[in-house]
Amino acid sequence: MEEPMESSVRAEVRAWLEANWNPDLGLVEWRNKLAESGWGVPHWPKQWYGRDLPVAFNAVVDEEFQRIGAVGVAKAGIRTLAAATILAHGTDLHKEKFLRRILTGEDTWCQLFSEPGSGSDMAGAVTRADRQGNKWVINGQKVWTTSAHKAEWGLLLARANWDVAKHKGLAYFILDMKQPGVQVHPLKQMNGHASFNQVFFTDAIVEPEFLVSDVGDGWKVATTTLMHERRGADGLRTWAMGSDRKGRIYEDERAEIATTMEPYKWYPQRAGRVDLIMQRAKETGRIDDPVVRQEIAKVLVMSKAAEWTARRARAAQEQGRPQGPEGSLGKLISSHVARAAARVHTLLSGADALLSGADSPMSGTIAEILVSVPAGSIAGGTDEIQRNIIAERVLKMPKEPSIDTDKPFRDVPRNTVS
Ligand SMILES: Cc1cc2nc3c(=O)[nH]c(=O)nc-3n(C[C@H](O)[C@H](O)[C@H](O)COP(=O)(O)OP(=O)(O)OC[C@H]3O[C@@H](n4cnc5c(N)ncnc54)[C@H](O)[C@@H]3O)c2cc1C
Repeated sequence: MEEPMESSVRAEVRAWLEANWNPDLGLVEWRNKLAESGWGVPHWPKQWYGRDLPVAFNAVVDEEFQRIGAVGVAKAGIRTLAAATILAHGTDLHKEKFLRRILTGEDTWCQLFSEPGSGSDMAGAVTRADRQGNKWVINGQKVWTTSAHKAEWGLLLARANWDVAKHKGLAYFILDMKQPGVQVHPLKQMNGHASFNQVFFTDAIVEPEFLVSDVGDGWKVATTTLMHERRGADGLRTWAMGSDRKGRIYEDERAEIATTMEPYKWYPQRAGRVDLIMQRAKETGRIDDPVVRQEIAKVLVMSKAAEWTARRARAAQEQGRPQGPEGSLGKLISSHVARAAARVHTLLSGADALLSGADSPMSGTIAEILVSVPAGSIAGGTDEIQRNIIAERVLKMPKEPSIDTDKPFRDVPRNTVS
């Protein structure tokens, strides 16, 4: 097939937007039009709301949307991990039932992977999935589940076979979060927000058609979700910004951001807010201190280098090259940058960095940075786990010794009873 030209893609999307964009439409109505046209996710297959275009053209399409002020499909939150996983492993039924409502933003999703006894060791999950008659029955507990209190659907990793090795007995389900067997309890974090939850399953039901892939392939499917999470393809790093323009659609979008994005309000702070450093250095006069200036320079250099590494990874992805070391380094670097930025914010604001409330530095934003930054070293795989991945898969160093990967999971010693 002949490769499309940038100019012809630009002309085509521009013409479509000029004929169809209308800020007085409702958000869902507009996004349904986008789904039908394929311009909302041009790199997706034609059959599933895309246009089969190479990923590299997304930037051109985005530019045309921005030029006219057109709103895009719902891109933020765990729904994008759900979409990537369903596109890769889902059946036609999953694609028909879920993809369009993910794009329109009608459904919110959560990721039910981590458990009290298995976070880093995610394949050690002990939440049970038992086949009873023609249904799957789920019992157990998850934790750290972002947005579970808002979610209609969950991506669930559960153990369906205890007689095979740990990675082989897992199944991956799409679970209806609004059923009686699912209880969601919010957890309050040290930064005052409550984004995570404990989720308890007591005879929760999954219809057999909502099993994604075969029993035993759950780990493979979960790896797809995690790969997209670590690459930042979940859209949580590209922050959804509302526009202050007038029109029904912009009002709808602002309302959506206020509710759906509420659990992620503090995510910019978790990244260390490097963007605020120069402004604060000038405001506080600390920019004149040579020692502080050195520290500022170090963070800005590290942050730029991290950004370029991320761009190299993105370029490789767009050109269809396999994920190189840049991808594995990206997550680790971002938590280093965040910690270094928090340290500089402390140097700039001194003890006032601890204050929150209206008359504190930047109305409490600086204090929020200090108590949010640790999350970056934990979420999506801790720094230590990233180092293990880099050591074993990139540098090809010997693997960590393992005592639990060969024997049936039933016989693996563990501290949870099930
Ligand atoms: C902001 C945020 C959002 C999250 N959202 C979700 C979500 O939506 N869904 C979900 O399922 N989970 C979510 N998580 C959970 C996250 O994936 C886990 O916290 C993470 O994988 C670590 O697991 P753990 O907390 O059980 O720590 P543990 O695995 O118990 O680790 C404890 C410590 O031991 C270290 N450690 C563990 N194993 C090794 C090893 N082999 N080698 C060296 N050191 C090791 C770790 O690095 C860590 O320092 C979220 C976490 C955060 C912070």
